[in-house]
Amino acid sequence: MGAARHLQQHMKRSSMRLVCALVAVAVICCTAFVSAGYRLGVVHNQRIQALAQCNAARSALSRNLKTLRNASLLSDDVAPVEANIKAAFAGNPALTDFESSRAHAATLLAEPSRQCPADGSIPELSALTTTLRGRAQTIRSHARELTQASDKVANLTNAGPRRTLATAISQAQWWVDFTAGQVSDESTRIALSEAIGNARNLLDGNGIVMDRQPYIQQVAALNAAMDAVAVSHNAKLGVDCSKVACVALTFDDGPNAKNTPVVIDVLRRTKTTATFFTVGEHVAKPDEGKLTVSLTRAGYPIGNHSWSHANLATLGDTDLTAQLQRTNDEIEQTTGYAPLMIRPPYSSWNDAVRQRAIAMNAAIINYDTIGVDWARTAPQVRANVVRWTKPGSIILLHDPQDSTAQSIESIITDLKARGFVFVTIPQLLGGLPKPGWVYYSRTGYLTPDQPWTDSSYFTAEW
Ligand SMILES: [Zn+2]
Repeated sequence: MGAARHLQQHMKRSSMRLVCALVAVAVICCTAFVSAGYRLGVVHNQRIQALAQCNAARSALSRNLKTLRNASLLSDDVAPVEANIKAAFAGNPALTDFESSRAHAATLLAEPSRQCPADGSIPELSALTTTLRGRAQTIRSHARELTQASDKVANLTNAGPRRTLATAISQAQWWVDFTAGQVSDESTRIALSEAIGNARNLLDGNGIVMDRQPYIQQVAALNAAMDAVAVSHNAKLGVDCSKVACVALTFDDGPNAKNTPVVIDVLRRTKTTATFFTVGEHVAKPDEGKLTVSLTRAGYPIGNHSWSHANLATLGDTDLTAQLQRTNDEIEQTTGYAPLMIRPPYSSWNDAVRQRAIAMNAAIINYDTIGVDWARTAPQVRANVVRWTKPGSIILLHDPQDSTAQSIESIITDLKARGFVFVTIPQLLGGLPKPGWVYYSRTGYLTPDQPWTDSSYFTAEW
């Protein structure tokens, strides 16, 4: 009995020891497992972080490459192509620096940029991040260098004023071509044609004009002559917007292959005129380019709504200039005429945008009435526009939007029934939209010497 009991106690102790051992093993295993898992998790997070840093460096590089590409594109405009200018400045250090800076940019732009591998190891990703950051830095400083070299050449050769004059000639040609038989005083058109001839002589003449003043004077002469034609055109139309309830329909963001033809068709059927602010990269597409030509042929003024719908007030000078200049060039190549007007996307402008507008001999056209067509149904868009339009209003709609394509006919019918008369922006303003002026409506505008102000012109509650 004693032995049996002893044995029993022994067994009990043994099994207790076994349980204890098992528990200990389990605890050790568990701790090891959890800590390994934890460590794995940490490593995983570090890798995700390294990948994110690499991708951030990669997008900074992409942004800087875009700026360098823009600087390079703008340098094409400055590069002297005229034989007389080339000859006059041959061997000039500013030109030599400029050419080598352009060549360097081309080399930098041709270098391939590596993507961050999603399955890369931490050391691999960190090394690549360092490389990409270094390259972004190099690209950034070279973009700045090229812009400075371009500015020097532009100052030397008067490229800026000559370009402004070339733009003004193209704008003036639009007035000559689209007011035939539509002015009350034909002598204004003759005077404008003469002003174009004088400006061309200055631009294409063989002598080197070192002084910028003659260019500035010719631009002023063209602007005065365009203004006289615009006034005479309005007189012939018989619409005096200081007496009649004029409104200007404006359409942004197009052309759009689907909805712009719908809008054009409604305008044609209802004999209504409008102004279009097109996006450069759309105009550059084949079908949308053809639509831009159709709009021009129908007599609708075309304005510049930037190359890729950028928020212009947030851009550096090189990117800002590229956004607007590239669009102007595209519109001019497509339609034959440089735009008279710029509409900054999101109504976002600052003094740099205004200075650029002046260099492009263009006015900035904003608006005081919006349909909110990007976020509302067709009946709501119609209700917004009809409720908020006042005599002299500039109405913002977007021809790519379905809600606008669906509501435009009823908007026109409703406003006409209320006595409103549809005009283009130049007709609404009673003459040439003035370069560097910022218009919100016929009577709401800022002159170039008035500082930027947060718009109080918008209708409240959108
Ligand atoms: Zn827009």
